[in-house]
Amino acid sequence: MRTQYRLMATSAAALTLICGATPAFAGLVINPVFDSSITSDPNSAAIQNSINSMISLYQAKFTDNITVKVYFQKGGGLGSSTFGYYWNNASVAISAMTADATSADDAVAVSHLGTNVFGSVAYTSANGRALGLDTPGFLSAGGGDGFDGIISLNTGICFTTHDSPVAGQFDLYSAAAHELDEVLGTPSGASGALAFAPDLYRYDGGGNRSFSGDTAAHAYFSIDSTTLINEYNQFGRTDGDWGDWVAHSPSQTQDWTINSGITINPGEPEFRLLDVIGYNRAPVPEPASMTVLALGAIALIRKRSKK
Ligand SMILES: [Zn+2]
Repeated sequence: MRTQYRLMATSAAALTLICGATPAFAGLVINPVFDSSITSDPNSAAIQNSINSMISLYQAKFTDNITVKVYFQKGGGLGSSTFGYYWNNASVAISAMTADATSADDAVAVSHLGTNVFGSVAYTSANGRALGLDTPGFLSAGGGDGFDGIISLNTGICFTTHDSPVAGQFDLYSAAAHELDEVLGTPSGASGALAFAPDLYRYDGGGNRSFSGDTAAHAYFSIDSTTLINEYNQFGRTDGDWGDWVAHSPSQTQDWTINSGITINPGEPEFRLLDVIGYNRAPVPEPASMTVLALGAIALIRKRSKK
């Protein structure tokens, strides 16, 4: 099995935010624009289908009334993301997260935000809008502008058949999801001075906040400070993003390095992180319909038992 690491390039351009009203949209919309490096590929349709299929998953998972504009192009490594971000006094992000809290995880998360130690907190342009802030995308690519992110994918080493892995190649669907997570808001500023929204939930495993570039220290994603959901790529780090997970077996979408030849589905650790930094999760399936199914099954069994 091959492994491949990922790269992240943050945008040098950044703006301070101005709060404002959020226009009404019909739930989370992610608008992809494909570069000619993809549209001119003989396998372009399959590449776009894989990315669009992944996007459909995210649109179904979250309900925020925002439109996220992403430019997709070919690139090196396995993939990389460039995103625009804003920053302000930490109280701005914390107030927005508190006002935006809708899930059980959100309620626990915001109850721990009062002890944050950051002067400023940054968030990607998409994350800011999910929080109800006026943070338009401002990246330019391919002659267009207003992008929240530019995602580069090494399509030549990836398979486009998400459910049918190809030996020696990587799951394009998952690679694209990894980079989309970063555009949406999962990056960490732990190796520098400016904290990002996820760093409000970065802990050392002993209940204390973690924000350092110390590769002798462990760092974890936790919502309540002590229940460790996943470990970040920090202890013994050799490469990859500080906001990525450590390598798991089997690989997870947000791992800094992954294995080839397998299907990798974005999972709860990523979705829970996006939830607590400001995205709103779609409701889980109705318990009522599950009850109906159960009753139907019972009725069928009863009918049979009469024979
Ligand atoms: Zn990454």
